[in-house]
Amino acid sequence: MGEAVRAFTVGSVECRVVPDGVMGYEPESLYSGLPPEETGLAVSRLVDDRGLVPVPYHPLLVRTAAGLALIDTGAGLAIAEESGEPVGRLPQALAAAGVAADEIALVVLSHAHPDHIGGLTAGNGRSRRPAFPRARHVIGRAEYQYWTSGQLPGDFAWMGDLARQHLIPVERAGLLDPVEGEQEVAPGIRVIPAPGHTPGHLAIALASGPHHAIFVADAVLGEPNFAHPDWTSPFDTDRAQAARTRCQLLDAAARGTAVVAGYHLWGPGTVEPHADGYHWNPLR
Ligand SMILES: [Zn+2]
Repeated sequence: MGEAVRAFTVGSVECRVVPDGVMGYEPESLYSGLPPEETGLAVSRLVDDRGLVPVPYHPLLVRTAAGLALIDTGAGLAIAEESGEPVGRLPQALAAAGVAADEIALVVLSHAHPDHIGGLTAGNGRSRRPAFPRARHVIGRAEYQYWTSGQLPGDFAWMGDLARQHLIPVERAGLLDPVEGEQEVAPGIRVIPAPGHTPGHLAIALASGPHHAIFVADAVLGEPNFAHPDWTSPFDTDRAQAARTRCQLLDAAARGTAVVAGYHLWGPGTVEPHADGYHWNPLR
């Protein structure tokens, strides 16, 4: 699929993908409940020799006049060790970008799934400490409440345990800032409630003068979602809402000619309405 673009600008805002790695997923875990003749063609092109879809984990480093922000924090070392997959490499990607962890002034968490928050803390057990010790950490209040409630459906309980492991040390350090509704969290960086994938899932809008970009996070789970915005995943807590949110974000991006980036997209691009979905134009 060619070399994806890693860096782009939004007016004076500089954005850079800082890759955490790639994880193989069962196709059914990304796009499920569909007749194979429908998904087969789109998905079979993507699978590796294990029959898994390679899914990138792509946090975004954002440099504004106000400082450095990081959107999502990768899977962390525990998940890398447990899965044996090449993820958890955000620290190396930041080092390669010449950025030290204590230079990050703001961490924005799109949501609290393991692949997004596993890199929030370093260390083990009670010695866990925030990996970004000088950053204010923004998360949707609904997201924080959902994953720390201790009242999750059985399939999701392990993810709640993991979310608590990482979020509580950040909260104890006084660095966690749960937010409600749409708001600007730094000059040019606005969080927008985008529920469905999870209850408090956030999209992150970047703006500088007339220029716009939107980090859709997991409102789009992979490139096939552009042509098939109705395809949903068992990871979505509300699948119908996930599809509605996806279309709202992509409609707005198409209208506003915004650059679209996403955690599980290979690189940034733009969208235009096409047939029952969208046409995806990767930046070159
Ligand atoms: Zn994800």
